[in-house]
Amino acid sequence: MVKVINKLTLKSSDRNIILDPICTHLAHNFSAEKISQLLKLIFPALCASCDTYIYDQGLCADCWQKLEPVTEPVCYKCIRPLPYQNITGCCEGCLLTSPKIEKIVAAYRYNDISRSLILRFKYADRLELTHLLARLLMPAFKQICGPDSLVIPIPLHPSRYRERKFNQSSELARKLCSDTNINHRFQPSLLERKKNTKHLGKMPRTQRAKTVKGAFSINAKMNPYLIGKSCLLIDDVITTGSTISEATKTLLKAGAFGVSAICFASTQKK
Ligand SMILES: [Zn+2]
Ligand SMILES: [Zn+2]
Repeated sequence: MVKVINKLTLKSSDRNIILDPICTHLAHNFSAEKISQLLKLIFPALCASCDTYIYDQGLCADCWQKLEPVTEPVCYKCIRPLPYQNITGCCEGCLLTSPKIEKIVAAYRYNDISRSLILRFKYADRLELTHLLARLLMPAFKQICGPDSLVIPIPLHPSRYRERKFNQSSELARKLCSDTNINHRFQPSLLERKKNTKHLGKMPRTQRAKTVKGAFSINAKMNPYLIGKSCLLIDDVITTGSTISEATKTLLKAGAFGVSAICFASTQKK
């Protein structure tokens, strides 16, 4: 009904004459819940991944079913699926290289649905997806975030930040901290990106590691807060883990006690 009224070319005073009695009638005769249900029928939501009409905010049933949660057994250092749960909990590669990170947790595998959500979030100015992504990431966040951990998003280089206008990892970290009442542990400016690396996209693992070498530094003013603290890095996607590994080295070198990481999606395959 409101849509029909919106299409009419009416003066705002005339619109109020029509809408006011309708709103008053609804408010007097229906509960807030009923009005909310009516509004959802008039203005249905769209699936955050495929734009199908849905009743409530979030994903349609089809996309929801296609989202692939990361399940055990996986290497706790790099999220690579393991053929079976071995005693060490690590893949062969991590046993050989001993990554400095304590643990990485990923909520979902990188597939068509998680990729669509992340691309829309990052490149289509869909900041409202922060709520959905943080909700999906929350169980993993609660599982890995220590009682005193500093929550540190992977930073963007200032020039990339100016292009995108926001840092997707920082928005996720902010929302996760505010929803768990630990705003004081959210540290968006402790880790800085001093090297504007090219898009790592399809770069091979060794080239990625070389490209991100020396990419991060610690904000000198914030350094005292870091000494002896556990840190939890937040990123949207982890591919080879080179970025997380370089950020971990930077934090440990500056005096952090230990570093873990969490991401929304992992591209690691068997
Ligand atoms: Zn969908
Ligand atoms: Zn591994």
